[in-house]
Formats: sequence, C-alpha cells, structure tokens
Amino acid sequence: MLDDNNKTSANTADIQAIDADHHMHPFTNTGALNKKGARVITRGEGVYLWDSEGNKILDGMAGLWCVNMGYGRSELAEAANTQMKELAYYNTFFQTTHAPVAQLAKEIASITPDDLNHIFFANSGSEAIDTIMRMVRQYWSIKGKPYRNILISRENAYHGSTIGGTSLGGMGGMHGQGGPLVPNIERIRQPYWYGEAGEMSEEEFGLACAKALEDKILEVGPDNVAAFVGEPIQGAGGVIVPPANYWSEIQKVCHKYDILLAADEVICGFGRTGSWFGSDTLSIKPDIISMAKGLSSGYLPIAAVAVGDRIANAFIEHDDDFNHGFTYSGHPVAAAVATANIQLMKKENIVEYVGNDIGPYFQQKLREAVADHPLVGHIEGVGLVVGIALVKDKETKELFGDDTDIGMICRDHCFNNGLIMRAVGSRMVLSPPLVISHAEVDELCEKVRLCFDLTHKSVS
Ligand code: PMP
Repeated sequence: MLDDNNKTSANTADIQAIDADHHMHPFTNTGALNKKGARVITRGEGVYLWDSEGNKILDGMAGLWCVNMGYGRSELAEAANTQMKELAYYNTFFQTTHAPVAQLAKEIASITPDDLNHIFFANSGSEAIDTIMRMVRQYWSIKGKPYRNILISRENAYHGSTIGGTSLGGMGGMHGQGGPLVPNIERIRQPYWYGEAGEMSEEEFGLACAKALEDKILEVGPDNVAAFVGEPIQGAGGVIVPPANYWSEIQKVCHKYDILLAADEVICGFGRTGSWFGSDTLSIKPDIISMAKGLSSGYLPIAAVAVGDRIANAFIEHDDDFNHGFTYSGHPVAAAVATANIQLMKKENIVEYVGNDIGPYFQQKLREAVADHPLVGHIEGVGLVVGIALVKDKETKELFGDDTDIGMICRDHCFNNGLIMRAVGSRMVLSPPLVISHAEVDELCEKVRLCFDLTHKSVS
C-alpha cells in the first residue's frame, strides 16, 4: 500500500529487517546485504519502478531482461484473474491437457522460426536449458547413438543456475561452487571481438571462433558430440554481439559433423533484438530453442523449449515415454498470461517497433550520448539490448585494475540517480522494456551520460 507520499505504509526498515532475518537472496553476499539492507521495490508502471522511499527509477534492465511489455499491464493481470477462477491448476502428465496450454503452444509456434513447432513447457530458463540438455542426449539415444552425449558451449555463456545450466554455462564464479558439475560438457572461446580478438578483423575472428568449434569437435571425436548450444547474443556475459559471419560459420561446422544446434533464446526471444527471436535477427537455423523471460513479460514464471521436426519426430515415432517434466509444465494460469502477452505484443506491433523504430533510435541516441566519453571503450548492441565496455584508456583498451571495480562504482551512481543499469565486470548493460518511448529513451541516455560522468569523477 502507498501513502500520500508514495511510500509504503510498512516502514522500509521493518521490511529490511524481516528480509535480513529470513530471506536468502540469489547471487548475493547475504551477510553483507543483511548489514546494509535491501532496497525495497514497491510498484511498477510502464518503464518505471518506485521504491519504498518514494524514489522513481527508470528500469533500464526490464527487471532481469524480462518485463518486455512494461509494468502494470492490466490485460495480463486480467488474463491471470480469469484463468485462476476457471481452472487454477491441472497437470499435463496424465494424458490430460487444457485449453490454455494448447493455445499457448499454438501461439508460440506461430512466431518461432521455421519448423520449431513442437513446444515443451517449463518454469524457468534454467529448466528449459536442462530440458534441452536431456532432450538432445535422448535424441541421440533414440537414434542408437547414446555415446553422442557431449554438449559444447562457450566460455562466459550463461545458461542458468540449476546444476545443468551451471555446468553448461561458462561462468567461472559459478563453476567454483556446488560442484561436481554435470560431465561431458566442453567449452570453446566466446566470440568477444572487442575484448579478445587482438589484431584480427571481425571477419577473421568470426572464422577463428568457428574453427575453435571444429577443433573441439575433432578433439573429442565428432561421433561423441550431441549438440552445440549458444545464446544468439550473449546476455549475462555482458551483451556480446558476435561478428556478422560467426553464426553462419558455426552452423556450417555443425552441419559438417551432423551436430544439433541449440539457441538459448531466454534473453534474445520475444522482440529484444527487433525480431521475435534472436535466431531471426542473426540468421541462425537452430534445431531447438529455449525461451522464458519475455514469454510472459515476467508476469508469471513460465518457460518453453521449441523443438524442430527432426528432434520432435524422433520422439513422436519412438514408442516410449520421455521421462522428463515439471509439476508446473504448462501451468494454466502462466500459460493464459503468456498467450495474452504474445497477443498484446502482436496487437501493439511491438516487435516491428523495436526492429524499425525504437531499437535503432536507442542504439543511435546512446552512441551520441556516450561514445565519446573517456570511459567508453566500445558499444555493441542490437534492438533494445546493449553492452558498453568501460576502460581506463580508450586508445589502448586498457582496463581498470582489480582495485577499481568500475562496474560497481558506475552501477551505484545509476542507483543513486534513478536508473537501473547492470554491471557485468567492467561492462555496463542495458535492456529496457520494449514499450519504452522516444522521450524515455532520451531520458535514459541523459541519465547514462550523467552516471558515466560521475563514475569518471569517482576514479579521477
Ligand atoms: N539462459 C539465458 C540465456 C539466460 O539469460 C538466463 C537467465 N538470465 C537463463 C538461461 C536462466 O533463466 P532462469 O533465471 O529463468 O532460470
């Protein structure tokens, strides 16, 4: 509840105290946070959030890259309300289905690329990734080649935080905790041209990265590899847009060795890059994709795997159960909200808006605002997602030393100036709601400039 000053009636300190006593936060140093007290978010509308102290904040991250249609959409609340009253829950295990899940599967199939028309439901991106891991391995088992079970992904990839997602991802900080990890996973270099290509041109680097895949396949034996998995554009790794030739070269290698290609669309899906899926924007032809986040604009937890004919037909023709699924696979309320979300996206032409209008506007405005900034080494992004490398020296690309956590310094200035922008090491990333207006993009870019100036002052 908000009082006249837009503050919650419960006292901020009270909520913080309860939170510190009982709530363990994800990806957080809980002890340190408990001492400091978490920021209490109370309300959202459009691209803005409010905290319990009455501060208005421009959410440059759409929550965690998910609130694509913006906060406070009554259409989505109503879809949940109606469905909850009609049928709040039933499972899809026992030879049963229900209208919301069937309709959502059809709605998803209407927007997925090519023949990715068979939909398996989960509740989170991590579960969707675990589903892909099990499904591609089982595919090869059905085909009589159970030894084809090695999965290849990339350094600095993010594929979730279940034991499967952690193992498949390439985040060193995660691999160090909670192991041992899932076996038979290999990783190759990431296509981070600005940071890791040395003197190579983008094209040369794209070829080198695809060669790294071929080398790895030959090292482990082509007949032992199930699939290559990658985010079309790496998100949590810092928004890394691969060289233009990267995906077509990767794809050639996969075809050459008959290796399945899986695209993790958890961030890139649902309009983020200006097409329904990142695979459309980057001309990838995957055999299977994961999606979550933007599927329901984050309004309820729901995720899915869209499976192409090759894999789906193998399962359909194989006369046996696939022993995998979740209590809430295709939850009717989450499904109804996701269907309403996709229909709203279609009605408001939001994907075209990102592709042809607000996406290019945002990319241009941001460059006008900060490309010349002394801290900015490089800006890369497509549609409404962007990564900015902060450097000590623009010419040499020298990074700040370990004693200066430039990303955190910048993020704190953002927080204190009404902007949510995420730091990934020394890279700052943005992924605002897709409904952001031109005026709000202008405001966002002004705030970014201000916060970069303050950050520069802090380290000068
Ligand atoms: N894959 C990608 C590409 C992601 O970005 C994420 C989440 N950021 C996940 C998987 C995991 O999703 P979740 O947090 O919903 O499990």
